[in-house]
Amino acid sequence: MLMKYAVRLIFVSLLLALGSSLSAQTNLRLSEPLMLPVLKGQYNPSQFYSGQPNSSKAAIKQNLLTQTSSDSLLQYLFGLNQFRNRNSGSDTLSVSNGIGAARNWALAQFNKIKHNNPAFITGFFQFDKIICNINTHKNVLGILPGTDTSQKGFILIEAHYDSRCESSCDTACEARGMEDNGSGVALVLELARVLSKYTYPRTLVFMLTTAEEQGLDGANAFAVYAKTNALPIRAVLNNDVIGGIICGKTASPPGCPGENEIDSLQVRIFSAGANYSMPKGLARYTKLSFEEELLAEMPVKTNIQIMNAEDRIGRGGDHIPFRQQGYAAIRFTSANEHGDANAAAPGYLDRQHSTRDVLGKDLNGDGIFDSLFVSSSYLKRNVQINGITTAMLAIGPQDPPEFELINDGNGLSVKLTNPQAKYAYRIGFRGRGNTFDTIFTLQNQADLKTYHVKKDSFYFVSVATMDAAGTESLFSMEKYVKVAGVPATGVLKKDAISNKMQLLPVSPNPIDETLTLSVYMPNPKPGLTGQLIITDLQGRIVNSLTIALDKTINEIVFVHGFSTKGLYFCSLFVAEEKMDMQRLWFK
Ligand SMILES: [Zn+2]
Repeated sequence: MLMKYAVRLIFVSLLLALGSSLSAQTNLRLSEPLMLPVLKGQYNPSQFYSGQPNSSKAAIKQNLLTQTSSDSLLQYLFGLNQFRNRNSGSDTLSVSNGIGAARNWALAQFNKIKHNNPAFITGFFQFDKIICNINTHKNVLGILPGTDTSQKGFILIEAHYDSRCESSCDTACEARGMEDNGSGVALVLELARVLSKYTYPRTLVFMLTTAEEQGLDGANAFAVYAKTNALPIRAVLNNDVIGGIICGKTASPPGCPGENEIDSLQVRIFSAGANYSMPKGLARYTKLSFEEELLAEMPVKTNIQIMNAEDRIGRGGDHIPFRQQGYAAIRFTSANEHGDANAAAPGYLDRQHSTRDVLGKDLNGDGIFDSLFVSSSYLKRNVQINGITTAMLAIGPQDPPEFELINDGNGLSVKLTNPQAKYAYRIGFRGRGNTFDTIFTLQNQADLKTYHVKKDSFYFVSVATMDAAGTESLFSMEKYVKVAGVPATGVLKKDAISNKMQLLPVSPNPIDETLTLSVYMPNPKPGLTGQLIITDLQGRIVNSLTIALDKTINEIVFVHGFSTKGLYFCSLFVAEEKMDMQRLWFK
């Protein structure tokens, strides 16, 4: 009887422990009362600002180019380094060690910005949940209110400031977490410092999140709070593992081509959804803004790689909870990583999630770093990429008007509904890739006609508003059309929209471990699914995926891994019948 009782007690306490680790965050609250009305856009800007807004694009760009500083980034990293362990369950009371000291230090950095720009609002976003034996947790916030509340939606730039060793609740180890994610914290602080020298029509929110390592808790709590309070978030830019350039031994290729290989010239953007989605639209906007506005003036160039998947496969980050609540969110990550997150695996030698994630090496023991693992110049360029995107989003004009995409048999027309004379409009065309193929700019005209479309091709078309300074809004959700084959006369067929289901062509990206496969359904049916069968040259089945066919464009992410090489075929089957096939050529 006693035994039975003891067993039941153990069972109940196990359930309780499990329950608390899976439970939601509760008691979500902001420490500063000014914050909520600003986040909602319900405030009077004259409360914060007098005089004219200071948001000239040229000045903001110049400021980003000249004021972003590698030295300042290093100072932030040295600052974070002193707290030894930033595990979410580490010391919250000590003034020198642990997560409590670290978040107070981060708040102090935001307060320095406030000193220079009194409009800047600083404080904590708090929530309750037992994580590594600690009940109350805090994200650190710095908010620069917008100067025009008629411009809806704030821009959120975030990075997690917590760290960990091999065991996720080890609060005694040295978890300096410099690459993961001191680099992201330094980026957010530096961006807040540089951007807050100006004012913007839309509000900027800089957030350092906690408990990312135990399950994205800090980001999730804020995303739920945002959704509950109907906070308008225009875009979320998450930065996690953003300053390292050295490839580790077990890091996933070709995020890493080989141990100690260096890549300081590329950065990856991960986002949910396949190409036809708002997060991918935000990723394209980021690449476009950077390439059009800043790249030419940078002494060292960075290439932005738009990745297919939401994150590295089997891993996640703080952009995900925002996407789950319906916001457009992307993640920036270094091209090369020094870790594959499985620090518990035998023979793991990399830095992420280990005591080795330090700022650099002291070779002669004099207490000074002789070489750094986080590259402050690479990190600086990533600050500038985040910065130009944030600034464009914050000063850009209102969203584009509705438009019609017309296939008139001779080419494609884009017709805007109620365009305004004071704006120009940009029309982005995309074929099979994840970036724009062509962008047209319409000055003083409402319609675009283009006759240079390729036969038998799908086009995804989106529209952005452009102001007099050449800054564009976010692009609309895409519309799509299929242009049918061109007969011998060179005139496009009248029935140009295909009426047959079709597997859309794809081109594998050699640096990506995944591929987006898309099926066009002229007559989508609720509940209908198809099978995508991938075969090699010998006809052997290497993979089979079930895809829902309930929308006109249906997309699925196929994880092929990095080592796939050669020619494969992807066939679409619906109810045992083969409908279409595409070649997949991995180089
Ligand atoms: Zn991280």
